Amino acid sequence: MGIRYSHAACRRALFKSGLPGLDYSLNPYFGCEHGCLYCYSPSVFGNEWVARNWGKFSIAKLNIDRVLEGELRSGRRGIVGVGTVTDPYQPYEAKLELTRRCVEVLLRGGAHASIQTKSDLVLRDLDLAIPGLLDLGVTITTMDCWLAKRLEPGAPGPDARAKALQEFSDKGIETWVFFGPVIPTLNDGEDDIRAIAKIAKLTGSEVLYDKLNVKPFVLDRLAPLLYDLGADPGRIEALSERSKPYREALFKRIDSICGELGVRARPAF
Ligand code: SF4
Repeated sequence: MGIRYSHAACRRALFKSGLPGLDYSLNPYFGCEHGCLYCYSPSVFGNEWVARNWGKFSIAKLNIDRVLEGELRSGRRGIVGVGTVTDPYQPYEAKLELTRRCVEVLLRGGAHASIQTKSDLVLRDLDLAIPGLLDLGVTITTMDCWLAKRLEPGAPGPDARAKALQEFSDKGIETWVFFGPVIPTLNDGEDDIRAIAKIAKLTGSEVLYDKLNVKPFVLDRLAPLLYDLGADPGRIEALSERSKPYREALFKRIDSICGELGVRARPAF
């Protein structure tokens, strides 16, 4: 089934953010074409239709750059997370250039743009990147292209994402790898972690990691793949959400592998 595209007008662009290191969040799209199976954004909206159709629609907030301009003029500044609940460089952005316009407005208005994406489409906007005024986080859950395609069906593969990190880093931009979610038995092994750490090392990026968050609807979407891979969804939920020893061992493993390679690493939240 194709993606359903539509447009909407928004009344606000910036929202106070409770995420570490961010003052505000900005999301030019509602819905996300990348359709990652583990995505817990739909649970933020608490709407069953949204959750069941996540990955199948994208609503562009066409006036968001103009609204943003007004908000910055009225004094809202600081570090703005671009793409906190939906990917700002999902495929629709190639046509609309909405995120690009927002980043231009942010930088012109004296704010810092902290972009997070899974797409190398961000390379289109490399010309906007100014060291100290923008940082780029790229989510990489696995360097295994087959697994990435199953987990994140609408997103570009991990090699393309690594290339984006490299080019921003080469330009002197602060870059970070978001390694999350780490899913028990899928991408929590030593080799999986080492492959991510190597990309971080090559691109001079820090690693921010996160466990699987089994919010409402997450397991519904993930379970078919887990069964295919011979994994037990109940056990995965128990390890991710309730097992402190599992989590502590996982985080220790990531810290130790990254440390061995001289890569900075820390929990994202
Ligand atoms: S790219 Fe991010 S927001 Fe989009 S579906 Fe994947 S996890 Fe969710």
